[in-house]
Amino acid sequence: MRAAYRTNLLAILELQLCAARNRTSTWDPWVPGPHYKWRTIINEKNEYLTDNFTLAEISCPCGNCEARIDNRHLFKIQALRDIIGKPFKVNSWFRCLTYNRTLAGSSEQSKHVFGKATDISTRGWPDDEIMNLISKAYLLGFKGIGIYPTFVHLDSREGEFRMWVGE
Ligand SMILES: [Zn+2]
Ligand SMILES: [Zn+2]
Repeated sequence: MRAAYRTNLLAILELQLCAARNRTSTWDPWVPGPHYKWRTIINEKNEYLTDNFTLAEISCPCGNCEARIDNRHLFKIQALRDIIGKPFKVNSWFRCLTYNRTLAGSSEQSKHVFGKATDISTRGWPDDEIMNLISKAYLLGFKGIGIYPTFVHLDSREGEFRMWVGE
């Protein structure tokens, strides 16, 4: 078992234990205190934030803003990547409000705006691999799972679990 995999799973278990006990986790390998970190994308787009994900993959397509990174969401996506065991393409992660408003049907409350959502491309994937992705995402505790024809949206919202099928 790789070190990153073990670290991420332990971190997630600790988060879930804290949630069960209704207290805040102190776990955060990136910054003490707030869970958010704003990163400039200039000159460091290829910087790896975890084993497999670069700042460029997380950043907004507009190219003019700083990425808002929710570290817990980021590490859950990395844990999912470790469990799936093969690369997947990220269609969309952070979106600034300005860019998000240009998208048809977008919501100001989109979890992408908060850096808490990732769209994973499933174009060309067989059904069983998509099912595997969704079930592992559920087990890892993603609270929002949207299933679309060519991608799966995963988010780390607060509150009730929600799953939907989109067009
Ligand atoms: Zn932007
Ligand atoms: Zn999405």
